[in-house]
Amino acid sequence: MNELDYQLDHLRAVNQELREKERMYQLVSKSAVGAFLYCSFETRRICSLGQWEEFFDFEVQEMNDIFKFLEAVDESYVSGLRNILFLESQGKDTATVECLLKNKRVWVSFCVRVYYDEGGQPTDKVIYISNITKYRSQNEELTYMAYYDSMTGLYNRNYFVRLLSEFVREASEYNHIISVMIIDIDDFKNINDGQGIMIGDELVQQFGCFIKELCKENVIACHLHSDVYCIAIHNPNKRACVGVLHDAIQKRLREPFKLSSGKEFTITVSIGVAEYPDAATSALELINCAEIAVFKGKALGKDIIHYFDASIMEDFMGAIELEDKLKKAIANENFILYYQPQYFSGTKKLRGVEALIRWQDEDSHFIQPSVFIPAAEKNGSIIPIGRWVVEQSIKQYAIWRRQFGFPFIMSINISALQYKKDDFVDSVVNNLHKYDVSPNEIELEITESVLIEDFNAVYEKIKILKEYGIRISLDDFGTGFSSLAYLTRLPIDTLKIDKTFIDTVLTDSATRVITESIVSMVKALKFESIAEGVEDEAQYHYLETIGCDVIQGYLFSRPLSPVQMEDVLREEKVS
Ligand code: C2E
Ligand code: CA
Ligand code: CA
Repeated sequence: MNELDYQLDHLRAVNQELREKERMYQLVSKSAVGAFLYCSFETRRICSLGQWEEFFDFEVQEMNDIFKFLEAVDESYVSGLRNILFLESQGKDTATVECLLKNKRVWVSFCVRVYYDEGGQPTDKVIYISNITKYRSQNEELTYMAYYDSMTGLYNRNYFVRLLSEFVREASEYNHIISVMIIDIDDFKNINDGQGIMIGDELVQQFGCFIKELCKENVIACHLHSDVYCIAIHNPNKRACVGVLHDAIQKRLREPFKLSSGKEFTITVSIGVAEYPDAATSALELINCAEIAVFKGKALGKDIIHYFDASIMEDFMGAIELEDKLKKAIANENFILYYQPQYFSGTKKLRGVEALIRWQDEDSHFIQPSVFIPAAEKNGSIIPIGRWVVEQSIKQYAIWRRQFGFPFIMSINISALQYKKDDFVDSVVNNLHKYDVSPNEIELEITESVLIEDFNAVYEKIKILKEYGIRISLDDFGTGFSSLAYLTRLPIDTLKIDKTFIDTVLTDSATRVITESIVSMVKALKFESIAEGVEDEAQYHYLETIGCDVIQGYLFSRPLSPVQMEDVLREEKVS
């Protein structure tokens, strides 16, 4: 073979290899989700790859065509995109922005990567464009749900409480008054039972829309639950603002509501009013007082407006009797902790236990915490009770840890009031020392409402607890979505998805979308997710499939007495 033939053969072989490689790159990029733009600074070559037509109507032939991207995106994204398209001019190597495409109403992410040679000169650039519409709309839905009630379009409870807390802060500074009105539709249960919940829902929605019309800068409203709404008026300047709103409501209610079925309904409402600072000085207390007022009002008759006042206050003082009883219960050690096991969803190994308090009264009846904890929170006796719970659960954990020889997590419920005490952090840490327990085996559960009222103060305490190595869990998550925005800022380890979600996750598609988003967001933030109140196999399997880490609920175990819990630990040890 002469030299020329040899060279030709060699060239053919190289050509063949190049064609194969080219084909490979084409196929790989075509199969990728998204489109790519490649630029070589050396040869000034530019080419598009992948699913280009899915996003853009233009073609690229020369370097300057990169500017066409700026025409393709919605105006408000132009400058953000321009900033990163020519990243080489800033000497940076990678950046991403999210933009809306103008013609297609599609959300895309532009990810730019620039490669440099050893001398720092740019050699190549790759721009990767992917479709993020699904993720964006889920996010938008979540953001909406963080603030609004989907049924009425009014604020949701938690966001409303936050705004009302702001009102209270301002009012305390400027000596203003705030009026909180609870509005409750009379005999709503009869409508729901007699006409069906579709009719009931439509009525709630229509009335909610009317309430929304009453809102202004200093008037906010929310859909509290079922057929109950709450309005807060800031700075009424001692003028009869409640009266004005009451009149407007009365006037509207003289006309019937026309439902889509053609049926007409006339309703009446009962209203309870509580005012800052006379009735109470915090957002949640104000709502509570207004609720008590409406409850009292209803007992007197319907279609009534009732103010929280001294007489209601007296009834309230009856709670002091309960306080005495609770105090005695502490002295006599009438409390007992039950423990509900939590299991890892795949392996079904024990992850930890949640300590749940029970009160055994003089007749040895068990009183459930849902009955006495709210009362104890209202009158402050939650402080000594909470202190007892913290010490007792840590002590019990130390005993079990030694007896069974393996670690697990002891989760303890903490009330807002406990966090507010200056010595809270010290008392937890002292107990860890006293019983020689590792901080990372103890978890404190806080609820969203704790955060809503006083985010900064609680945040500081959580940070200190975390520095000690104590785990923090966000309890009852999802009941109002208020803390979604906080999530990324919160130093938590665990997020507990509330039972109300688990209850409907298999039957309601909106709940499903949100639950899946929560689980994936928790994963992205590297927290752990726990599903609460899992009662049947189908729920468990679904939660396992979507990647929820831990399961707690009657399906695996009810809360157990210490003796029953020991049986579980014994079994766990041998398995
Ligand atoms: P929580 O923290 O959300 O506790 C979970 C509640 O759900 C417990 O109710 C538990 O028994 C119940 N539960 C667990 N799995 C299931 C299930 O599959 N189905 C159903 N229907 N319920 C389930 P419990 O023990 O009555 O406690 C009620 C609430 O009282 C707790 O709600 C918590 O907020 C409060 N609480 C309990 N113990 C303490 C405590 O020591 N300190 C404070 N501050 N609050 C406590
Ligand atoms: Ca809890
Ligand atoms: Ca919970």
